[in-house]
Amino acid sequence: MALPSPHLSEIPAEGLSVECEVQPDELTLGPDDARVKGVLALSVEIAQADGGAHVTGVLRGRFVRQCVRCLTDYEDSVELPFTAEYRCETPPARQQPKPSRAYGRAETGSRDTVEPDEPEIEADDVYDLVGDRLDLAEMLREQIILATPMQPLCRENCLGLCPVCGQDRNERQCGCSQEPQDSPFAVLKKLQGGQTARPR
Ligand SMILES: [Zn+2]
Ligand SMILES: [Zn+2]
Repeated sequence: MALPSPHLSEIPAEGLSVECEVQPDELTLGPDDARVKGVLALSVEIAQADGGAHVTGVLRGRFVRQCVRCLTDYEDSVELPFTAEYRCETPPARQQPKPSRAYGRAETGSRDTVEPDEPEIEADDVYDLVGDRLDLAEMLREQIILATPMQPLCRENCLGLCPVCGQDRNERQCGCSQEPQDSPFAVLKKLQGGQTARPR
């Protein structure tokens, strides 16, 4: 089954629960966004809410990333939980957010500590209905991009490439003695410069 794009009217009162596979090209992911290995697995619950819909789910998949230290491609297994609201494209006159929607995350003091009446926060996970259809593709694409690390590392303690000879030091120690100039160890060596205990 392909990525669902249900009409609002197709969402039953008890909600809609969908499990499906998603092809990367259904999300119009560019090669710069993320490289998906195989297909993604989507599990999503869609419920009617206030003339729109409330969507929660998990997207799972394997991504191929390039380590910033050793430049090796590695696979990253990712599980992305998401929550989104879908609203009509032309909402009625702007209303103050209702306390019942309450931005629970902000109140519990997690990372989203933003003033509840700033319009920007709504824009983050609120999507327009296309006609009366839910377009999940754009939302999922954004989730993937947001979850893409700025500095991907193949492993936490990746040793990177030798700055002298280019050897991948995860594979083999090349024996070059020179430390990179800006490494903390090089700085430390300079500071120590033979005498370990300097008088103050
Ligand atoms: Zn690496
Ligand atoms: Zn080397």
